[in-house]
Amino acid sequence: MITVENVTKTFGGTRALTNVSLTAKPGRITGFLGPNGAGKSTAMRIICGLARPDSGTALVEGVPYAHLPNPARRVGALLDASAHHDGRTGLETLTLAAIALGIPRTRVTEVIALVGLTPKEARRRVGTYSLGMRQRLGIATALLPDPRILILDEPVNGLDPSGIRWMRDLLRHFADDGGTVLLSSHLLMEIEAVADDIIVIGNGQIVAQGAKEDLLRGS
Ligand code: ADP
Ligand code: ADP
Repeated sequence: MITVENVTKTFGGTRALTNVSLTAKPGRITGFLGPNGAGKSTAMRIICGLARPDSGTALVEGVPYAHLPNPARRVGALLDASAHHDGRTGLETLTLAAIALGIPRTRVTEVIALVGLTPKEARRRVGTYSLGMRQRLGIATALLPDPRILILDEPVNGLDPSGIRWMRDLLRHFADDGGTVLLSSHLLMEIEAVADDIIVIGNGQIVAQGAKEDLLRGS
């Protein structure tokens, strides 16, 4: 469960979030929809403890991210698919992450297979990866600790149609197992296709929030 209450965040003179409250529930895929610059990444970074709200609270399983025991093992996050070190191979990237998290190396092979990177691709340097492959590597990194919560910022960008279908299936299984998924997109079509619950943000403010059927019915 993710609960954000009355979060306001400014960067210098820019107000990125104004009184944002939202929830993402276990067993549900929550789609976070809004145009570029609406504040989605800022909200997700605050949830993951990477930015501090000016006011309000962001809680994961009832406590701020930083106060979770082993937060990096409970929450799998993909916040910037281009953040991986270009000089390392995919395999090295995941192995280092596994070591940092105290996760057995065998899990690395597992997640590589899970995201559909071939062993040969895994041995290529990330600098040679397409955006779609970077997204798969990012998902692999997020899945590494077998988390109960996934926070994915624009995970579908750069994926081809088969990659998008794969991603939807993966998120569906994750949520059906009781996991909590919060994923952002600027594409209504994408959110509509994958989400159970939808949060709409515009200009740093929540515009609408609820079950997809209710929102699309206009109630
Ligand atoms: P989205 O993820 O929906 O595209 P962001 O959260 O990235 O939106 O951005 C929301 C607003 O906050 C934008 O106006 C953006 O320029 C601003 N912003 C985000 N991060 C920073 C930062 N580190 N410094 C200054 N402004 C920022
Ligand atoms: P530091 O990052 O300096 O180590 P902490 O992360 O422990 O500090 O947090 C310092 C204070 O900020 C605490 O009172 C904590 O509850 C609050 N805090 C941290 N993250 C959040 C968050 N996401 N939402 C609300 N309050 C937070």
